[in-house]
Amino acid sequence: MKLPPQLRTFLLSLYYNGTLPYRLWQNARLYAAGKAPILVFFYHRIAHDRCVPWSHTNEEFARQIAWLKKRFELISLAEAQRRVRQKSNDRPAACITFDDGYAENCDYALPLLIEEQIPCTYFVCTHYIFEQQLFPHDIALGQRLSPNTVRQIRYLAEAGIDIGAHTRTHADLGKIHDPRRIREEVSRCGDELEQLIGQRVRYFAFPYGLPRNMTSAAFQAAREHGYDGVCSAYGDYNYPGDDGFHIRRIHADDMLVLRNWATLDPRKLWRPVAYDYTRDQQSLKIEVTSQLPTGEQREYAAH
Ligand SMILES: [Zn+2]
Repeated sequence: MKLPPQLRTFLLSLYYNGTLPYRLWQNARLYAAGKAPILVFFYHRIAHDRCVPWSHTNEEFARQIAWLKKRFELISLAEAQRRVRQKSNDRPAACITFDDGYAENCDYALPLLIEEQIPCTYFVCTHYIFEQQLFPHDIALGQRLSPNTVRQIRYLAEAGIDIGAHTRTHADLGKIHDPRRIREEVSRCGDELEQLIGQRVRYFAFPYGLPRNMTSAAFQAAREHGYDGVCSAYGDYNYPGDDGFHIRRIHADDMLVLRNWATLDPRKLWRPVAYDYTRDQQSLKIEVTSQLPTGEQREYAAH
């Protein structure tokens, strides 16, 4: 059942405030035991409007970054992996990432991160950069939103933004089973980006990023290509002791949803739906989307 947005916010606010004392206790316990998860957030488009649901306004983004900066050490994906692999984490830490590659991100959001020296991995699709075509998911909503240009991507890489691969054509890899096409999307995208920026491309993010959009064959292609890690986007924490290759991300959404995740939502802590990339998800028959917050279901239904 789809709740109206205001009712959803009201209910989440009740839940958040009602569980806050428990969260504070739980946070203290997990950090003291070195078992605190590392959070990796993802954004898409930051601009002066929210004409598509995968947008934040400049003001919202600034507020979220300021809130996170006060409470978390903002670290790179490489540092997140290192902490996950060392099997113990006793410090609040979070990462910022972006998907798709919208030109407007260069107006406010990325300059803000560069100025504040906040690490960021920026996942882009090479086809849209090279051809300067609009994303079909924006056209479907009647919006003409420009992708980043070659010049912008080169400038961002030089300014210290970590450029990552997000397939060539924003492909749903859960639907592609031809090994040549998988390599084309996973591997060629990374090669093209490396040529473009003259630096190694270390990370790959699955478009859509739900379990149904990922396969063990695509994970394998990413490993064979030599990526250091791949990102999903179905909403999960990264625990010390995880393998670190699969980086689980959370959609930043609005401020309340962000705070709900950042203070470690008790419902999510026991990880009921961990994605296991060594098994083909088709055979698992897990209805993961039903366990995502309504906001994320809406986001992904649209995107
Ligand atoms: Zn995407």
